[in-house]
Amino acid sequence: MTDPTPTHTQRGPAPRGEVERDTLVRWLNEYLNIGAYPDPSLNGLQIEGTGVIRRVAASVDTSVKTIQDAADSGADLLLVHHGLFWGQPLAVTGPHRTRVRTALMADLNLYAAHIPLDAHPEVGNNAMIARALSLQNPQPFGDWQGHKIGLAGELPFPQSLQDFADRVQKLTGEICLVHGGGIPQVHRLGIVSGSGAGAVAEAAAAGLDTLLTGEPEHKHFHDAFEYGVNVVFAGHYETEVFGVRALAARLEDEFGLPWQFLHHPTGL
Ligand SMILES: [Zn+2]
Repeated sequence: MTDPTPTHTQRGPAPRGEVERDTLVRWLNEYLNIGAYPDPSLNGLQIEGTGVIRRVAASVDTSVKTIQDAADSGADLLLVHHGLFWGQPLAVTGPHRTRVRTALMADLNLYAAHIPLDAHPEVGNNAMIARALSLQNPQPFGDWQGHKIGLAGELPFPQSLQDFADRVQKLTGEICLVHGGGIPQVHRLGIVSGSGAGAVAEAAAAGLDTLLTGEPEHKHFHDAFEYGVNVVFAGHYETEVFGVRALAARLEDEFGLPWQFLHHPTGL
C-alpha cells in the first residue's frame, strides 16, 4: 500500500494578481512564439528586474521616459514592442546606459516583443487592426523575411478612400497620409503595421485595392501610383499601440495583473 502523504511540499496556485517573473516570461515566450522569426530584435526578457510581477506597464517604444514612467507607476514589468537591443553589440554608454541604468535602479523587468507581436493571430498589431476594421476572411499577407506578418481581406462593404481614411483616423486619433494610387474605393485591404510601405507590389499581386500601413518611405513613393494601389499611412507608432495593449490585457486575464498603457506618441 502506498503512503497517501505527499513526499514533498505541495504549493497551491499563486494568488491572482501576482506571478513569478520566470513563470511569466516562459508564458510570454510560448504564447508569442518568440523563436519563430529571424528578428534583429532581442525578443524576450531584455532586462531582468524583480522576481515577482504584480503590475504591468506597456508602451510601444523604450526610452528613458517610458522606463521612468513605468517605474513611477509601480510596474514590475515594462512590456514593449521596440526594445533596446537590435542585433548588434551595443556598449552600455550614453543614452543606452541611462535607459539600462534607469530600469536596473528601479528593479524593473523589460520584455520586448517585436515581429512576434506584429504577427500574432490574437493580440498582434495587425490582428487587432483587422478586428477593429471588421476585416472579413483575413489571410496571411505582408512578407517579412519569408514570414507573412500582416493580414489581407475584405471590408464588409466597399467604401470611398476618404471614408476609409476617416475611419482609420477615428481608430488611431491621428491624421493619416493617403497616397491614392488606386481606384478611389476601398474593399480589398492589406494591413501591415509599422514599416510596411514596401508591401505595395505584394498588395497589387494579391489584387488588393488598398494597403494600410504605418510609416511612409520615400523610395516607395512611386509604387502606389505605378502599381495602382492606394496606400494609407496611419503612423508607425499609431499602428503599433494595439499589440502591447492587447498583450497586457491578455496578461490581466491570465494572471490578474493590473496594467496601464504609457502613451508617448512619436508622430511618425
Ligand atoms: Zn515597429
